[in-house]
Amino acid sequence: MTEDITHSKKFYNVNLNLSPILESSMPNNEYHIDANEIIFQMKSMKQFLENIESEKRDVELTELLNDIITYIENRCCHTFIKDWIDIDPDNGKTIIYCIQCEKTI
Ligand SMILES: [Zn+2]
Repeated sequence: MTEDITHSKKFYNVNLNLSPILESSMPNNEYHIDANEIIFQMKSMKQFLENIESEKRDVELTELLNDIITYIENRCCHTFIKDWIDIDPDNGKTIIYCIQCEKTI
């Protein structure tokens, strides 16, 4: 029993000593998640939750959806562009929307 404890302590120490070496050998970008990537993934999750029929969305999912909408609104570095959309074959209108999160103004 004592031997087992000693062995696991040694194993722990080896891991502890190797950890900074392993981390320093990894390129920094292995740990870097781009802010735009987060917004992109949040948009996918928002779309996923919105596709669930509202009566099947429970309170937690509705709160999660609202939190994601708020997160995107607050954290997106909005890049607005002006575009023209067709309403019908004869009419269209100008819209201004963010190319990252698709918010319209
Ligand atoms: Zn945006």
